[in-house]
This record gives sequence, structure tokens and C-alpha cells, in this order.
Amino acid sequence: MTLSEKDRVANIELSFRLLMAELGDRSISRTFFDPHLPPFDGVLQTTWKELCDQGWIEEWELYGQPHYRLTGRGWIEGLWQTGASKDRSLLERLGNLAAALKGYVKGRQRDVIVEFGRLIGDVKLPEGWVFNAIESGVFEKLQRRHGAPWQERGILIRIPLNFGIELLDHTADLRAQLEAMEEQLETATKELLEYKCSFCGAPIDAQGPVPLSEDVDGYFVSYACGRYEVDGDEQPCPSDPRFPKLDDYELEFKEHPDEPSLKWFCWARPKTPIARRVRLQSGQGRTKEEARQQVVDSYTRIAKPWPRR
Ligand SMILES: [Zn+2]
Repeated sequence: MTLSEKDRVANIELSFRLLMAELGDRSISRTFFDPHLPPFDGVLQTTWKELCDQGWIEEWELYGQPHYRLTGRGWIEGLWQTGASKDRSLLERLGNLAAALKGYVKGRQRDVIVEFGRLIGDVKLPEGWVFNAIESGVFEKLQRRHGAPWQERGILIRIPLNFGIELLDHTADLRAQLEAMEEQLETATKELLEYKCSFCGAPIDAQGPVPLSEDVDGYFVSYACGRYEVDGDEQPCPSDPRFPKLDDYELEFKEHPDEPSLKWFCWARPKTPIARRVRLQSGQGRTKEEARQQVVDSYTRIAKPWPRR
């Protein structure tokens, strides 16, 4: 028979209620539970296994039978599962314990180590419960504050100077890391895109340093589509909507009557800023029309979108 998810969760809750009630104020290290005895007969075999897998309990073979013992993590989980983590009585106990621990480091410049036995005498709280609180790191887990760990388990406690101070928000740390990674990814993607023309997808055919003036070097990138960039100045891609039209040029002519054959010259004078960035070849011809046609052909070649065929 397979149990529904809901039944499994309910049986785990039941097991924690029973474990925490049986434990009471006793120390988790000294309290072993026999799964074959009441009140645990309602706890399923699969639940014990789940609790072991989660690290909430440990299995020990005692008297030839498996027994279970809560771990520090299991004790915290028990506080959550039973709702005890929000009990006023628990908060009062934690307050008393914290005050006693803080008392030892007050005015000190270094961490302080205290005897567990001495602490028990000072706090007037059940020894088992104090053991469980130290063992489980209850201040970190329930209150997100720096706690006081064992220096020697069950014997000595180390109280750090920052005891009781709020832990850094580690989730915020993770979020910050994630943001940084996303930024890196964005930059990497942009860099990858830069290997191709963003308008037409043409590959880069050349790039490198280029002298801009006597002592200033720029960096140029030239694409197979004819797009060319150097430090903010560019010749646009033919697929770029800003690419100049032929109308953006004033065609100017000059006749050289002395020339034997090619008497006509034509050149394109850019009329717009974008046209100034795309230089057209000048034309020469026997007739005015021939010279003009050469300039128009030059424009047609340069304005043809990649891939050119
Ligand atoms: Zn392009």
C-alpha cells in the first residue's frame, strides 16, 4: 500500500509531536526512543526512515533492537513542527539563556569559554533543555543570531564576542550574487553579439588598433556587410535603417574638355550627416550620364545588404 503525500506528511507531524512530548526537558543525547513501544506504535516504518534520511533522528541498536535519538536539527524541526517555536515559554527560556551567556562576555575583549555545569547553575533552566539549545544552535536557527557553540560537547561552551548579534541576511547575499551573475551573463551575451553585425548578422572580418592621430590609438571593427566602427565613429550597415539613400547625396559634375576620352567627372557630395559616413566612389565617363552611372553603381554596391551575391 502506498501512502499519499498528505498521509506521509501527517505521519511525520505525528511522530514529531510524540517525540517532543516524550523528550520533554531531557537531553536529546541521552534520550532514546523504542519504536515498538507506545506511544510510537502509530508511527510508520517509512516515517522513521524518512526522519533518519533527513538527519532529524539517528538510529542506534540497543538491547538488540533499533532505537532512535533526536539530533540537534531534529530538535529544531520538532519545535517548528509542533508550533513550540512560537511559544511564549520557549521565547522566555531563550531570553534567559541569552542573558546569562551575554553576561559572561560583557566587558570582555575576547571570546569566553564557560563550563556547561557552571552555566546550568547560573541560568536555573533544565539541564537537558539547555544542552539541546546549545547542541542545536537554537539562536542561529530560530532567531538568526550568533549563538554559542560547544567548545567541548556537553562540557564547555564558547561564547563569541558577537553573541546575540543578528546574522547577515544570507538570502540577500545570494540575491546579490545572483544579480552579479546576471550582469556578467548580459555582458557576455553582448560581447558574443558583437562578433556579428547586430543589423544583418554579418561576421567581423577584421578588427584591431588603428591610429586616430599621432599619439592616440583607436580600435576598429569591420564587418563583412561593410559596417565599420572606430571609437564611436561608424560607417553604417546597409541593413541599418539609417543607411543613407542616394537622395542624401548631391551629385556634382565637371567636364574636362581637354581629356581625350573620359571627359566627365561625377562625385557625390553628402547632404546629411549619415551620408558623410558612407563615402561613394567618384565616376568618370565619356558622357555625363556614364559618369553619373558609375557613382550610382558605386552606391548600389555599397548599399546592398549582406550577404551580397
Ligand atoms: Zn551589417
